[in-house]
Amino acid sequence: DKIRGATEGDGRTVFSFEFFPPKTEEGVENLFERMDRMVAHNPSFCDITWGAGGSTADVTLDIANRMQNMICVESMMHLTCTNMPVEKIDHALDTIKANGIQNVLALRGDPPHGEDKFVQVAGGFACALDLVQHIRSKYGDYFGITVAGYPEAHPDMIQGDEGATLEAYNNDLAYLKRKVDTGADLIITQLFYDTDTFLKFVNDCRQIGITCPIVPGIMPINNYKGFLRMTGFCKTKIPPEITAALEPIKDNEEAVRAYGVHLGTEMCKKILAHGIKTLHLYTLNMEKSALAILMNLGLIEESKVSRSLPWRRPANVFRV
Ligand code: FAD
Repeated sequence: DKIRGATEGDGRTVFSFEFFPPKTEEGVENLFERMDRMVAHNPSFCDITWGAGGSTADVTLDIANRMQNMICVESMMHLTCTNMPVEKIDHALDTIKANGIQNVLALRGDPPHGEDKFVQVAGGFACALDLVQHIRSKYGDYFGITVAGYPEAHPDMIQGDEGATLEAYNNDLAYLKRKVDTGADLIITQLFYDTDTFLKFVNDCRQIGITCPIVPGIMPINNYKGFLRMTGFCKTKIPPEITAALEPIKDNEEAVRAYGVHLGTEMCKKILAHGIKTLHLYTLNMEKSALAILMNLGLIEESKVSRSLPWRRPANVFRV
């Protein structure tokens, strides 16, 4: 089925888990064991990323197919245009279609490692909009198409520490609307740590007539260096109170993870309080923090979750 239906839901809050393809076969098998445990908590869907430049194409396809047909969870595969002539794109889409997968996250992708500008390959597409258009014209309504949304504007639009200018932000938003008007039916956002920025983004999308569900992408902080790397790469705004809370505990991995769960829980509570009923968790292939947040929110049963999750550290140890 298409995941849009689940995200519109029946008023219930729903959640989903994102994974990336591990580098080794052993890693893949470990991931399936973890996924199996996580799927027992009834996510509305799970998705698997497409390695930069098509580097993980075979593994991504294999994982997507096994997720759908062996783990038996509604699955979505990411697909990017980087280094992808149309034949390769169609091969990927035909393969998932043959395996009963009906959901694709259509992306432009980043430039391959070592390059700083995205370059269209001969016979390929220039942006996610082209890919959405292609999927709709070749496959009709078979696929539900999700696209990426950027609450702080796409990093290419951001110069310096000030964030995107209003004009760049508005252009980015208008472009997002074109992706939706061309056939996308769901938006998942880039990670963010300033919940107000996300809520404003949803409001701004509604103002310009984007009506499809907008699902917040939540990335629990699991480790300090990873957090800095990721937010640096994505040019994510870090509210000063988060920096202040992390600074004294940055060398204590357990404390950082527990703070990440506390922060993730508070962010989700605020989002849910604004009537948004869907949460997408960037798991980074780890289960504990994602499950701990969902448990704190009362979305999964404590009795079904392992005792070793990091929420057990009292939340009031941390200031948010
Ligand atoms: P696009 O939607 O094509 O656009 C990028 C930006 O360029 C736009 O925001 C806009 O500002 C500008 N732009 C492009 N075309 C036009 C136009 N015609 N007119 C005006 N402006 C334009 N990367 C991976 O490699 N693999 C993944 O699996 C993956 N999954 C992701 C999942 C999510 C939810 C998100 C948010 C990102 C993901 N990424 C992934 C990262 C993504 O590939 C990069 O952010 C990439 O730089 C942009 O992809 P996009 O689909 O947003 O690009």
